[in-house]
Amino acid sequence: MKVARFHAPGDIRIEDAPEPVAGPGELKIRVRNCSTCGTDAKIFRFGHHHIRPPRVMGHEIAGEVAETGERVQVIAAIPCGTCEECRRGRMTVCPRQESMGYHYDGGFAEYLVVPAKVLAVNGVNAVPDGVGFAEASVAEPLACVLNGQSLARVGAGDDVVVMGAGPIGCLHVRMARARGAARVFLVDVNADRLAMAAELVRPDTVIDGDPVEQVLKLTGGRGADVVVTAAASGAAQEQAVLMAARQGRISFFGGLPKDSPVIRLDSNLVHYRELTIVGANGSSPAHNAEALRLIAEGAVPVADLITHRLPLSRVLDGIDLVSRGEAIKVTIEP
Ligand SMILES: [Zn+2]
Ligand SMILES: [Zn+2]
Repeated sequence: MKVARFHAPGDIRIEDAPEPVAGPGELKIRVRNCSTCGTDAKIFRFGHHHIRPPRVMGHEIAGEVAETGERVQVIAAIPCGTCEECRRGRMTVCPRQESMGYHYDGGFAEYLVVPAKVLAVNGVNAVPDGVGFAEASVAEPLACVLNGQSLARVGAGDDVVVMGAGPIGCLHVRMARARGAARVFLVDVNADRLAMAAELVRPDTVIDGDPVEQVLKLTGGRGADVVVTAAASGAAQEQAVLMAARQGRISFFGGLPKDSPVIRLDSNLVHYRELTIVGANGSSPAHNAEALRLIAEGAVPVADLITHRLPLSRVLDGIDLVSRGEAIKVTIEP
């Protein structure tokens, strides 16, 4: 079978590999769609400290169980299920978390084997009728968005600002609508990307000027109830704090580059305005199941966000499209 293997930064190869064999407690999957995201682009450029090459990449996985043909979606982040955090139900912050496509071969392949650890935490979900494999593969990033918005308590009547108009930003806009947000504002420094995203997800307003000034103006000086930074930008995080309303919640959804993770924060704003700043670290198996349900019910449509479908041989083109910000969602069909 064909696979796309990461060997070193800048070196991903399409190679022939023997079909994997499922051991006891494992599950062999015929991959139908594995979507790409900013993380794949980052791994391609810089590698990742959890990837010991060579490794088959791809973590947004949907396909068929090889033996039965059952249509399934597979989680990406694998909690251990047994540590203190996992037992307290905080699976997204399991310190022993592993990931498909990092610690185990991922979905840029015709077949993959789901490790027993994934099955042990209910990490394989049946895809509901009427949901295609490409849509099902987007359940994983949507699950991360769901985790971020539940931590930031996005709810009815909220004015929500999403900073970053990439695929994750688009999913945040859709999720905020599903959770009853009053208005959603979409911000990006790249006007073309902002226009492309806005065309699809229709925020109430797009902001490409000074976002703090604009948000304060749009909210009569009050600020936004929730601000989500869906970009690896310290400047966006600093602006997010400045545009939050009293008792506002700020989600630092996107992480910052390892070599510059420090921002300037006026802690008195947090103190006097009773702000809440939350992080977000992937998603739990339960978030994945819920995301799939939201897609199936039509609460969060994702089919129209899939702008490119490419064969496995064109994985590198897909990653290139993602890094240049010219696509919303690129999915690989091995
Ligand atoms: Zn991803
Ligand atoms: Zn754990």
